[in-house]
Amino acid sequence: MINKINLLDLDKQQMYRFFLSIGEKQFRVNQIMNWIYKYYCNDFNKMTNLNLSLKKKLNDIACIYSPKFLKEQISLDGTIKWSVEIGNKLIETIYIPEKKRSTICVSSQIGCVLKCKFCSTGYQGFNGNLSISEIIGQIWNASRIIKNKSSKKNTSITNIVFMGMGEPLLNIKNLIPALKIITDSSCFNISKRRVTVSTSGIVSGLKILRNTIDVNLAISLHASNDKIRNLIMPINKKYSIESILSEVRKYLKTSKANHGGVTIEYVMLKNINDSLNNAKELAVLLKNIPSKINLIPWNHFIGTNYKSSSYNTIINFSKILKKQGFITTIRKNRGEDIKAACGQLVGKM
Ligand code: SAH
Ligand code: SF4
Repeated sequence: MINKINLLDLDKQQMYRFFLSIGEKQFRVNQIMNWIYKYYCNDFNKMTNLNLSLKKKLNDIACIYSPKFLKEQISLDGTIKWSVEIGNKLIETIYIPEKKRSTICVSSQIGCVLKCKFCSTGYQGFNGNLSISEIIGQIWNASRIIKNKSSKKNTSITNIVFMGMGEPLLNIKNLIPALKIITDSSCFNISKRRVTVSTSGIVSGLKILRNTIDVNLAISLHASNDKIRNLIMPINKKYSIESILSEVRKYLKTSKANHGGVTIEYVMLKNINDSLNNAKELAVLLKNIPSKINLIPWNHFIGTNYKSSSYNTIINFSKILKKQGFITTIRKNRGEDIKAACGQLVGKM
């Protein structure tokens, strides 16, 4: 398998090139993609509209291989967390069902190099980037499992968020083809408005993204000034708040996916970034940026002294932002009982 081409690594253009290179007609691409992404078939022998010689050829040089889902945990609220085997390491993929949508939260890296002080993934250290098929394979496996579990016919995944382990923009080489596969109508066919890349603000990556693909952006701001952000997110010393926001402004100018504004994520840390002055400062900071603010109650993990702001503090913080005209929401924690919530993903079973 190691030397075979994994078709989950190829976006449509690459798939065309691959079929051309093996002397096959272009219409085969649509047939194969249909089998892979509509019927979740990973066995060439079962693809009934391929002739015998093509089946043999594909078996010799290609495969459809997704990473193994080792363990499944189901939360009381219906959230599902899978531990996913990547080499001898584990990552996590989450499924979050809601009334009107169902979301898969994918990982982009094994661990994370950025070491944000409030994030357990950051504490775990960094063990490498995920390949395209390791990213796509998470969605492929999860969608297939959900489809099989459900009695209803149309149980499709409506949203994808890159909010699992890792910093997606530090794996931009694989992120971009993965985004193409996710949004391609022959593949997962998910609208760019429903695909969210959450980033700690890697400006160089945002620039590349702006020139390549339009998706929904969520910026992990988490502070109303550089002093606080430097303290909790070491990457801020390289990319300051202003440098991030200035790049976000540029992204928004051409983006259709972010037509309601960019999402600003703000994790509420007791006595760190949650004063009423911080709320006012944040409102000034975002004055010229169409944005929706998502306040995130901080999820505890062992090994830090941080505490989440109280519910009252979060409500008062949100009131100030709302008064200033910002759409402000408070993130519901999902799957807390199985440690599937934001910042709790550490790759342990
Ligand atoms: N690396 C990317 C995406 C993964 S983290 C990023 O930082 O944006 C997804 C979201 O969870 C980010 O907004 C992150 O800051 C937040 N988060 C991290 N640790 C958390 C914790 N312990 N409690 C709540 N949110 C957390
Ligand atoms: Fe990495 Fe995001 Fe966690 Fe920061 S919050 S350590 S960028 S995964």
